[in-house]
Amino acid sequence: MLRISSEEQIPVTPRGGGASFQGSSLPVRGGLILDLSRMNRIIEISDEDMVAVVQPGVRYETFEHELEKRGLTFPHDVGSHDSATIGGMIASDSNGHHAYKHGRVGPWIQGLEVVLLDGTVLKLGTRSPRYNMGYNLSALIAGSQGTLGIVTEAILKVDPKMPTSASIGAFFQNLDDLMAASHAIHMSGVEAGTLEATDGYTVSTISDVMGLGFPSCEGNFVADVEGFDEENLQAKLSILKRILEEHGGEEVIIAQDDETRKKLWAPRLDIDIAVMKLQPGSREIGFAASDPCVPLSKMAEAIREIGRIIRSYDLIVAVFCHTGIGIIHPAVIIDPENEDHWVALKKAEREVLEYVTSIGGVITAEHGFGYVKNNYVKEAVGAVKLELDRRIKGIFDPNGILNPGKMALDTEERDAGVKYTFPAYVSDQDMEGR
Ligand SMILES: Cc1cc2nc3c(=O)[nH]c(=O)nc-3n(C[C@H](O)[C@H](O)[C@H](O)COP(=O)(O)OP(=O)(O)OC[C@H]3O[C@@H](n4cnc5c(N)ncnc54)[C@H](O)[C@@H]3O)c2cc1C
Repeated sequence: MLRISSEEQIPVTPRGGGASFQGSSLPVRGGLILDLSRMNRIIEISDEDMVAVVQPGVRYETFEHELEKRGLTFPHDVGSHDSATIGGMIASDSNGHHAYKHGRVGPWIQGLEVVLLDGTVLKLGTRSPRYNMGYNLSALIAGSQGTLGIVTEAILKVDPKMPTSASIGAFFQNLDDLMAASHAIHMSGVEAGTLEATDGYTVSTISDVMGLGFPSCEGNFVADVEGFDEENLQAKLSILKRILEEHGGEEVIIAQDDETRKKLWAPRLDIDIAVMKLQPGSREIGFAASDPCVPLSKMAEAIREIGRIIRSYDLIVAVFCHTGIGIIHPAVIIDPENEDHWVALKKAEREVLEYVTSIGGVITAEHGFGYVKNNYVKEAVGAVKLELDRRIKGIFDPNGILNPGKMALDTEERDAGVKYTFPAYVSDQDMEGR
């Protein structure tokens, strides 16, 4: 099929769960969608070799459930865990909730089977834990967003699942104190799985809508921590509690049962639903400024400033972030039937990305360029890197058949020739002069 598509010049867009935030699995040039979701077999889980061999369409949630039965984990729980597939997560080099401790998906790939455009099957790596054999092509495929080849099988490293875990959270009147607490936890040597924060707007909104009784604050903080037994877990929790209190954290909550953990994580995970309840008809929109990353020392300032910029355009935004790794997610909720909201969103995204770059940050660190960042790629990486990326693409796919219109590999434009579901949408071309 790939060979014929190549010969006939028919675009092919690979797709797993379709949960990409950046439009990377949308067939913006038409052609064929290659749906991999039914290649969904877990071929093998080996506790001896500490690997799992899977097809690309396996859903993250299903995979993790099977691993847990054997005391194992693939610790890359993404927010879209019920729809995201392993193939989509590899091609996006996903950054899950526990990326602070476990990093991105890419380094967890031990082996890959990739089908190239001419039908050739490329085998990379093995079930041996390490290899160093020339260019690391697995790392190139990770994050390539379906533009180089089709992942048809993966050998993934798995870890032992720690038997006990808990969440701990606190509320801060000052984001600088919150970030100082996060840094102190990092320096303490207590290996937290995740360090997360949400801004005051998010906390008060979720508290009002869900009746959670949270205090008003400039931000709240949540960490997850695991232990090899209860004593080990409690020792870690008491260190974290002390650090949070020493840095001004109020109403420290330790959560070991599912219900309290859900409550603690609600500002982080349920805010879009809460805002959409308040504003019927509104939606969270994946836009170009949804996942910038800034130096850790600039986090408090950036959370405030990104929120301020977006609100200055009269848009609703909930800001949350991975404090341990510098990634900030402004979740913008708009009325997609309102043309002014689209115009405001596009102006706000540019201002946010210019601000992020001005303080030494990068415009994307989680979702990648996909489609919605096409017009920012060259500014972000420079002409030399973009040209090299395009040459690499040319080696794998000289006619631009695989997932065209993405990562600025063949165009630095968005919108041209693309039809949108929302009639009120304002294209980049129509933004001129507005
Ligand atoms: C609510 C929500 C929360 C999210 N939370 C996170 C998060 O915490 N962390 C994070 O990193 N991302 C997050 N995302 C983004 C997204 O879920 C992830 O990037 C996920 O990995 C996408 O998986 P998918 O199967 O849906 O991929 P798709 O959207 O189907 O595809 C993603 C990309 O991979 C390519 N692709 C898919 N399968 C293959 C294959 N077999 N071979 C080659 N290319 C392929 C597609 O062409 C596309 O470019 C979130 C998205 C949503 C909607």
